[in-house]
Amino acid sequence: MNNNLEILLVEDSRTQALKFQIMLENHGYHVQVAQNGLEAMNMLLSNHISIVITDWVMPEMDGSELCRAIRQHDFGGYIYLILLTARDLKADIIEGLKAGADDYLTKPVDDAELMARLSTAERIITLEKTLKKRNQEIALLSITDPLTRVHNRGYLNDTLPVAFKRAARYGNSLSIILCDIDHFKEVNDRHGHQVGDKVLIAFVQTLNEALRRDLDWIARYGGEEFIIVLPETDLAGAKTAAERFRKLVADMVVETEHGEIRITASFGVSTLCSRNVSPGADAEELIRVADRCLYEAKDQGRNRSAGAEI
Ligand code: GH3
Ligand code: MG
Ligand code: MG
Ligand code: MG
Repeated sequence: MNNNLEILLVEDSRTQALKFQIMLENHGYHVQVAQNGLEAMNMLLSNHISIVITDWVMPEMDGSELCRAIRQHDFGGYIYLILLTARDLKADIIEGLKAGADDYLTKPVDDAELMARLSTAERIITLEKTLKKRNQEIALLSITDPLTRVHNRGYLNDTLPVAFKRAARYGNSLSIILCDIDHFKEVNDRHGHQVGDKVLIAFVQTLNEALRRDLDWIARYGGEEFIIVLPETDLAGAKTAAERFRKLVADMVVETEHGEIRITASFGVSTLCSRNVSPGADAEELIRVADRCLYEAKDQGRNRSAGAEI
């Protein structure tokens, strides 16, 4: 079995606590001791400990009260509770389990039984951690584009309106850049879809690496179109950024099994200028204007950028 797992032992009798602590430490557990329920709650609030073994009869806050208090609070992770009682009256045990205990032990505690109960505790805690990790992975997948690994359209739809409202409310600028690869169909037609995918991945990587970290973000809007969101950026700043991206893409060489491939892209910039925001404007309007500017850039010969305020 484990260990290095931490256990919080709640026991008002110092001699019993010491005896128990030695027993647990001999099995490799790290033990912290609290003398009553209140002290235990304070310790749990400042430091997450996932296993609590608590005495039943204690002053101030007894074992079942502590169980209730723990279950009412969100500690951000499961706490496995074992009640320790001198009595093995059925009614007490039922009350303890009803109060939120996962298990119970009767004093004097048998070493082998204690270890068996703790292995159950560890199993439950490991299970909870695994589930939590899986849930986080699923949550991340649900907002990620599988090909390019940047945010997907769903994330954009949820997040851009929030960024828009915040910028409008606090009087900040917000810009977006709609990016579209020029004549991308030709890349697919000439070299096949798989090579096209590779070029698409390289395109996004180039854009992604050029973003201001922790501030700007990129999402796949659809097909080979991506939106870069630049909070607190005015039109001049966003146009400068778009030109920087444009040059980086034009200089990019993608090595493929069909040899080196070069592409260009066009960029439509739009900005919410807080000094000058028209009533009823929203994130969709921001995208519409960026789309119109992108069309203009394409119309004027591609490999260029155009921008406007909404
Ligand atoms: P332009 O934008 O310059 O007008 O020309 P284009 O050829 O890029 O125009 P369009 O937007 O009509 O075509 C986009 C192409 O992108 C068509 C589609 O097959 C391709 N495409 C979209 N998504 C993917 C993808 O995930 N992988 C690959 N390989 N191709 C894609
Ligand atoms: Mg006691
Ligand atoms: Mg295109
Ligand atoms: Mg397109």
